[in-house]
Amino acid sequence: MASERYDLVVIGAGSGGVRAARIAAGHGARVAICEESRVGGTCVIRGCVPKKLLVYASQFSEAFADAAGYGWTLDSPQFSWPALIAAKDREIDRLNSIYIKLLENAGVDLIMGRGRLVAADRVAVDDRELVAEKILIAVGGRPQVPDIPGAELAITSDEAFDLESQPDRVLIVGGGYIAVEFAGIFAGLGSRVELAYRRERILRGFDEDVRKAVESGMAGRGIAFRYHVAPARLEQADRGIEVTFSDDSRAEFDCVMMATGRAPYTWDLGLEAAGVTTAEQGRIQVDHFSRTSVDNIYAVGDVTDRVNLTPVALMEGHALADTLFGGIERPVDHDNVPSAVFSQPPVATVGLSEEQAREELARVQVFWSTFTPMKYTVAGRSEKGMMKLVVDAETDRVVGCHVVGPDAPEIVQGFAVAVRAGLTKKDFDRTIGIHPTAAEELVTLRQAVED
Ligand code: NDP
Repeated sequence: MASERYDLVVIGAGSGGVRAARIAAGHGARVAICEESRVGGTCVIRGCVPKKLLVYASQFSEAFADAAGYGWTLDSPQFSWPALIAAKDREIDRLNSIYIKLLENAGVDLIMGRGRLVAADRVAVDDRELVAEKILIAVGGRPQVPDIPGAELAITSDEAFDLESQPDRVLIVGGGYIAVEFAGIFAGLGSRVELAYRRERILRGFDEDVRKAVESGMAGRGIAFRYHVAPARLEQADRGIEVTFSDDSRAEFDCVMMATGRAPYTWDLGLEAAGVTTAEQGRIQVDHFSRTSVDNIYAVGDVTDRVNLTPVALMEGHALADTLFGGIERPVDHDNVPSAVFSQPPVATVGLSEEQAREELARVQVFWSTFTPMKYTVAGRSEKGMMKLVVDAETDRVVGCHVVGPDAPEIVQGFAVAVRAGLTKKDFDRTIGIHPTAAEELVTLRQAVED
């Protein structure tokens, strides 16, 4: 077996791995990156990017319906699922080749194949052996499916992106990010959607008012909720999949999609051979410098199960490359990470929920408002958006900002700077609003709500 020497070998060419490889090479390191599937990783190939394209596609039905209120008459619009999937595939191919070009231009050696650790300084990829000064594990996560009879009849988000035809009756299982996003996608495209969640309300961990607003907006779009149940058994029926739920109720669907979480992809990676220890669910434990239990081996992104978001993996990969090869010590910082759920209506949030703030702080003030997005008024849509600021009453600092409604992710990205910078409610109050927008609500919230 031929041995090749590198300063850094990266296993996994997703967001975190590619960023770390490119930045390290830019600092002058000799870098190789290996990838068993497609360069770009979950986000580009089967995550954020194709998901957002499907969300856009699904929003047209609402736009067509609302257009009538503005004087438009449309002949009944037709939708083609295969045309959408083909268009999505072309865009993913384009992005995949851009990622490959970026690596080439940075002088990183791309090795297609599954990388496995064979020792603390060695990675095998098929018949090649790479000898590495430092190794970065950035292999991401994989969907996790409950172990129930007939589970193989269900799909996960991985397969949802490549279905040959649009299912009519869809059951989504789970109440997290992926479940609510895909419920909105299928419903917007015209499928009949039910969402089954084992507890009392979707989006556990989000601010309670956010959860209620999203639930109500989704229900208004025709999505049905089955709470306090999970599928117990799936069986192939003549015309679909028969699902028996944990409360013994039964129903038939054309497609059952498990959105029941993702697990670090650490199996069969040779971690034991290298001495890398893992914690629950195979998560690789790392410190603030993304160091594993082995001195020269590092891990970033979903495989470490810290904050499983693409921009976080990018930050972790970049910080690591700067620390190792750029002479800049950069610990990672997971404080006040903004995030969005591209549900319909969408949510975006940064900082503490009201519930977290009340637990962590001595005195909390909450400013809250619901509003009818202006576009909805003439369209005749009754749905309301929601804005909420959570303030530390001792310091006046805004510690949480939550928005549900059109453009929420675009709005909160800017406000995340203010929250991260530690600005106070007074700073928000002396900022002039942009009129007429929804975002101006966030600088005109004057009255704290009563406890
Ligand atoms: P989540 O962890 O967000 O949600 C998993 C859901 O499945 C939870 O509601 C959980 O319930 C439920 N569940 C877990 N196990 C079972 C089971 N055995 N039976 C029934 N229900 C079960 O995972 P997702 O898969 O939605 O997403 C994975 C991660 O990917 C997210 O946490 C997020 O970090 C990232 N992501 C981010 C996106 C974004 O930024 N917009 C979009 C998509 C994904 P319970 O609440 O009871 O645990």
